[in-house]
This record gives sequence, structure tokens and C-alpha cells, in this order.
Amino acid sequence: MTFCLPGVGSLPKLWTSKSVWLGPGHSYLCLFLTDFCGVRNNQRWFSLKTTCLQNTKSINLLIAKARHFRKDEGRNKNVSSGFSDLFSAGAAKKRSQMNCQNKVHDLPSIKNTSQLPTEPLRLEDWDKLKEDFKGKVSFESWISSQMAHHHSSVDVAKSLLAWVAAKNNGLVGYDLLVKYLYLCVFHKQTSEVIDIYEIMKARYKNLEPGAYTLLIRGLSHSDRWREALLLLEDMKKVTIPSRKNYHDCIQGALLRQDVDIAWNLYQELLGHNLIPMLETLKAFFDLGKDIKDDYYSNKLQDILLYLRNNQLYPGESFAHSIKTWFESVPGQQWKGEFTTIRKSGQCSSCGKTIESIELSPEEYEFLTGKIMRDVIDGGDQYKKTTPWELRTFEKFVKSCPPFDIVIDGLNVAKMFPKARESQVLLELVSQLAKQNLRLLVLGRKHMLKKSSRWRKDEMEMVQKQASCFFADDISKDDPFLLYATLHSGNHCKFVTKDLMRDHKACLPDAKTQRLFFKWQQGHQLAIRNKFPGSKMIFQHILSYNTVVQTTGDSWHIPYDEDRVERYSYEVPTKWLCLHRKT
Ligand SMILES: [Zn+2]
Repeated sequence: MTFCLPGVGSLPKLWTSKSVWLGPGHSYLCLFLTDFCGVRNNQRWFSLKTTCLQNTKSINLLIAKARHFRKDEGRNKNVSSGFSDLFSAGAAKKRSQMNCQNKVHDLPSIKNTSQLPTEPLRLEDWDKLKEDFKGKVSFESWISSQMAHHHSSVDVAKSLLAWVAAKNNGLVGYDLLVKYLYLCVFHKQTSEVIDIYEIMKARYKNLEPGAYTLLIRGLSHSDRWREALLLLEDMKKVTIPSRKNYHDCIQGALLRQDVDIAWNLYQELLGHNLIPMLETLKAFFDLGKDIKDDYYSNKLQDILLYLRNNQLYPGESFAHSIKTWFESVPGQQWKGEFTTIRKSGQCSSCGKTIESIELSPEEYEFLTGKIMRDVIDGGDQYKKTTPWELRTFEKFVKSCPPFDIVIDGLNVAKMFPKARESQVLLELVSQLAKQNLRLLVLGRKHMLKKSSRWRKDEMEMVQKQASCFFADDISKDDPFLLYATLHSGNHCKFVTKDLMRDHKACLPDAKTQRLFFKWQQGHQLAIRNKFPGSKMIFQHILSYNTVVQTTGDSWHIPYDEDRVERYSYEVPTKWLCLHRKT
């Protein structure tokens, strides 16, 4: 997998001058085509063989290039300043110390990234650097990875390429070329990107996704953005492009106001079941303020509904874009405010009531059915619970009237490590029983065996105030907890500090996961704290659903603040309230 760097007098010229590449007759593109005609028949992905014909002319020219560097020695005295401590007093000692370490750990000698060249090196400097390298991998591969990782300048990378080409009869490996491309894209050197694009186009029938991704990104910012779309098409022949690839192409199209292409790509992205990047959605809103047509406007509202259906929240700057767009719609008098929701579920800004967290009867039935079928009965992931034990439990639950609260006894009892477990459980049960709630405590058989942590008298008092089910010590609690709570009905809540994240991941599809999350938010009682001798305090259960929502003449959109890190099981607290001025 190599790329032939044909004879050139000046490498910078090779990379920058289009006439060199595209001129008729003597163009290097033509050289490629003739040199590689045998290879081009081999169209496997990644598959180009290294059968570059030796080109004496190219070697000679590259040698001339090396001389050119040497001639410039005087002028380029500080050419390797960032690298100079390798050659300065004390450096050899340092190096030998490093080499000693290397013998033990077999690490490359340049460990400190400050020793990566910061300016282009001459060929002999690269030779020296290579001599000092003691790593297991090839020097070229290692140094190019380091340079890519530390975002070295394009000029430095180019000098590495020149050196590699000089040593290898004008050959530069595909891998090295892609790393160079990465740096050009990173530093937004569009003309370099286009040159590499030309080389690759001529040289390879197909690329791997990494190179496609880089070229798409690089080209989408250039005047040749439409060619990024062609690359996307090529990519589709071998794999599904990523949401980033779509983002780049959509961004490119939106920058040129080609909205039809942008919406088509967006549709295609959804068609692949990819979740678009929030930046992509934001880009549509940002352009929207300059476009005054109903079609575009409806599409933007579809995006908001997409956020709703997928329980996604815009970030802060995206929320600003949404606000700006609404306020720009002519004749509709939208006004946006950043706000919070009161505990009662009312918007602090407009006073409207936010949707309830309660599941509708249809949603509840759907979720219950899925969990019973896919998770409790059919789930391989709960092998730790024997089917026999689960059936015994089902019979037990069906023989009891519905519960109000199901308690994960073991989990709750272990919440306060300094207190005795049976005592913690008893306090909780007594506190809830006083409120005339029907309780179910799920426990393990070992809790009934007398021990210092589990006192028999306390456990007997627990059993007097609550129904109890003690499972085998090896069972997992989750299926029991879910089954009992769901079976009891929509009013029933459960107590555990477990957030059941693993469990959620086992749910079969996105809709079930969303409903589960909503149900969990509305039904899980988490103990916030407890002081000795005092009551347990539960975390407040939100009465409203934190999700993008509309009533037609208002929108309420929860969003994530930039500086607040939110875990997947938490919901944002900040909202954008949009309403029409009356
Ligand atoms: Zn409001």
C-alpha cells in the first residue's frame, strides 16, 4: 500500500502547484495512470499493491531535493530548534539515560513530545532522528503517529514525507499519506487537502473510511464541496457513512445555501437509523433565520419533534439558535425566554403547565408488556434468577392485592454503612407503614439468618408491617422489583438507590427505553438522606416530564447548560420557553 511520489524538483511545488498535477502530457496524474495501470485492476478495498515502478528520474530529483536542503543549511540554522536539545550539550547524556531505560522497557527514545520537530528537518536530520529511535515499530510509522497526535505543522510533516520519498525511490506509504492528510485537515490547509485528494483519486479505486472521512471533512469546507458528496456516495458502496460524515456534507451544503441537498442528506441519515449530531440540527436552525419559507419552517419543527421523540436535549448554544430562529419568523411574534420550571410543574416564565410525568394508559400498557415479555420472561441476561423462582414469585405477587411501594430491601439496608442493616430497613418500613401504604419488601434468604447485621427481632417487625419475599441469595433483584411494581399498576412506586442503568441497556428498542426512563423518573423513590433518629428524606419526584413539548402557540424546550455535566440518568433543569405575544 504505497503511493508513488514521482520525480519532482521541489516538493512544496509538488503539493501546491495544480499545473504540475493537471497539465496534459507530462502531468504526474498521467504518470500514475501509466505506472499503475496493472494495479488499478485490483479493486479490492484497501488493496493497492506496492508495484510502483522504479523511476530513476524521480529518485534523481529527490536527491536533488536533498541537496537543496543541504545548500540551505546556513540559512536554516535554526531549522530544528525544537529538536535542538538532541544536538546540544547534555543531550547525549540525556539520550543515553533514555536509551538505558529503553533497554529495560523497550520504549522509543523520543518520549518527550517537546522533542518532536517543530520546523521542517533536512534529510540528514531525519536520518539522525531515526538512528536514535529504539522502538519496536517502524520509525516512520511511529513519528508520523506522534506528529498527527500532537498536531505538528503541515510543513514539518511535508519534510518527513520528502525524506521518506527520498529513501524509498519516491514511494510514500498509504498510511503516511493519510496521516499527512489528517494534519492538513486539522490545520484547515484546504489546498493541500485538494492536492492529496487528487493523488488519492488517481491512485486508489476505493479508500477506507478513515481517509474518506478526512477528505469529506476537508472538501466540504472548500469550493469543491460537491465532491465531498461524491466521496460520500463512494463510501456508501463499502460501509454506512457516520453521522459525522453526514454532518460535514450537510454543513457544506448549508454553507452554500443548497437546502434541498442538505435536507435530502438529513433524511438519508435518519434512514440509516443514525442519530444526527446536535451540531447538524443546530446548523439547520442557524441558516433558517435567513430563509423565509413554510417548507423550511415545517422541517425545523420536525427537528424539534425528533428531539422530543428521542428524548434529546439541545445544548446551550443550540437553544440560543432555536430562540433566534423563532424570533425571526415574520408575522408570528414569537418571544423566547430562558427559564426554569416550578415544582408544581408550571413554567416560571409563562405560567403554563408542563406535561405530566405520568405515563398514559397506552404507554403504561406498552411498557409493561415489553418488560414482562422481553426482560423478565425471555431475558438471558437474568440467568441468575431461575425460572422456577420467578414463577413462585409471580404466583406470590398475584395472590396479593396491588402494592403501593416495592422496596429493594438489601439495597436500601446497605445505604448507611455505619447503621445496622436490619435497623435501617425497619425504620424505612415503619415510616412508610404509618402512611397506610401497602408495602412489599424484596429480600434475600440470608437476611433471615441471625447475624450482627440482621437482627431477628427487627426482621420480624419488618414482616409484620410489610409483605416480604425472600429470594435465593444468588438471584438478581431487578426482575423481581420491576415485575412487582409494574404488576401493581401505574400508582405503584419503588425504592432503590440502584439506577438500573444496566437494565435499561437490555431493553429492546429506543421507544421502550424512553418510556422506561420516563416511568423510572416518575416512580423511583430515592432516599436522599437520613439522620440518626430522624425520618428518611426522599428525593423529590418531578411531577412533570422533562422533554421538548408544544401546544401549538408555545414551545417548551429543556436544554443542557455548557458548564453543567449531566449524567445519562439525569434530566436538564433549564428550559427555553417560547410563546407568541398576544
Ligand atoms: Zn413557558
